[in-house]
Amino acid sequence: MSGRSTGTCKLCLRERGLRESHYLSKGLYKALRNLHIENQNPLLVTGKGAFRTSRQMTAALLCSDCEQLLSAKGERYTIRVMSNQKGFLLLETLQRMTPANARGGAAAYKCAKSTEVDTGALAHFALGLLWKASIHTWAPAVGVRTRVHLGPYQEAIRGYLRGEAGFPANVVVKITLCTDRESQLIMYGPTLGNAKGSKTFNYYELLAGGINFGICIGAGIPGTDRRQCCASSADKWFFVRDCRERTLSAAIATTGTTIDKPQRHDRRP
Ligand SMILES: [Zn+2]
Repeated sequence: MSGRSTGTCKLCLRERGLRESHYLSKGLYKALRNLHIENQNPLLVTGKGAFRTSRQMTAALLCSDCEQLLSAKGERYTIRVMSNQKGFLLLETLQRMTPANARGGAAAYKCAKSTEVDTGALAHFALGLLWKASIHTWAPAVGVRTRVHLGPYQEAIRGYLRGEAGFPANVVVKITLCTDRESQLIMYGPTLGNAKGSKTFNYYELLAGGINFGICIGAGIPGTDRRQCCASSADKWFFVRDCRERTLSAAIATTGTTIDKPQRHDRRP
């Protein structure tokens, strides 16, 4: 592998040969590649615009074992069940279940007893991506710098990702599966957003393959949010709805442009 160097792996904290880690994993790009349009690269929404790009953000941060651990504990499952060219396996699985609540096109499911939904893998994927965004300032070819600041939660999440600690306290991962096509083709985040009705915790959002992950961090997370966590709550709620408006407004808010007409295209590598 090119760019191989030795250093302290950010996840296991050992001196190891370091791999070029991808901010957004190769599998994500591959799964989201849209075969029905001329430019087959996925649409990535960042603070600087909307891009169809195959360029990936990489940095030598993790050893090979830790790369594989992130893949095995979260990425591989998430990529398999999210919306891709084969369908949207996770959505199809939920829609075979009986919802606890349903109104219009929206529904809520309790997944705690499901043997088909790996709620822990989805949480591991989301927190893995958020943690990666916190350990390095990613400066990709498109000229955007991405970094989130997790304070003391960075270490708690590292321990959880590594399997050295349980699911971190005062962290909630909420999952909404998007039924609209737009949300299934766009990816963004992790982005710091405003959680409704509260300034007492940080709220990050990321969207990949029709799965909207809302991550709450802080001691002030209300009980209603805590009860919705896909990993640590008793019921492990999953929500299904049309997220088109939310996705488009998030995309427009972060880009200042429309997603329908990407302003820039990358040159083919
Ligand atoms: Zn490592």
